[in-house]
Amino acid sequence: MLSIKETPEWRQYEWLLSKIMHDEYYSPRTKVLNDVRQIGEYSERSRQIDILVETGAVRTIIECKHYSSPVDVKAAESFMSMMNDVQADFGIIVSSSGFTSSVPKRVREFEGRISLEHLDWQHAYKTSFAEESYGRITDICSNCFSHYEIGIEVPGILCWEHGIALSVGGKVSVASVGKCLKCSSHTVYCDSCGCISIAENEEPCCNLRDVFFEFRANET
Ligand SMILES: [Zn+2]
Ligand SMILES: [Zn+2]
Repeated sequence: MLSIKETPEWRQYEWLLSKIMHDEYYSPRTKVLNDVRQIGEYSERSRQIDILVETGAVRTIIECKHYSSPVDVKAAESFMSMMNDVQADFGIIVSSSGFTSSVPKRVREFEGRISLEHLDWQHAYKTSFAEESYGRITDICSNCFSHYEIGIEVPGILCWEHGIALSVGGKVSVASVGKCLKCSSHTVYCDSCGCISIAENEEPCCNLRDVFFEFRANET
């Protein structure tokens, strides 16, 4: 029996933002990664990055702040020093409760490189989740959904990469692979079979399923 553990709100906030950023920015050239660890250039310590957006050599780090009070100067300064340490070109601080009035002034030191966003958690995340799909593809991870209780637990959210095309024996096959922000499993939509399956624990629809999964899994 699986025990239902409540996902902390700050984690849900991070997932929500990862999903928004991924849907907005992901392309074959741009990677959007959630919860990345990187050794700092100066600190030589492992630094945790909430969301990393990478387009070639251009790197943007995003920090999600779900606090009950506004983000203050101290937090902004620590973010700026982290930008230096992980050699980020751009940085975004997203706060669910705004910023103190001195923060916009303080970040002028990084003018043009840093932005402050206010995203109200309560309004943005009022969706009641259901395993609905657009056509065949859903944004809810069925691996997490099987032990999800409405009102108690937040299900996993999938970040899809569509249109992954592989040429096998002169025939081009297309698939979409979605990685779950919660359980990290991969859901594969195989276009030629029209089937959806979880790569880690469900039978493949055809022998291409795991080719697509491994192609995607090796990418990140
Ligand atoms: Zn999941
Ligand atoms: Zn298939």
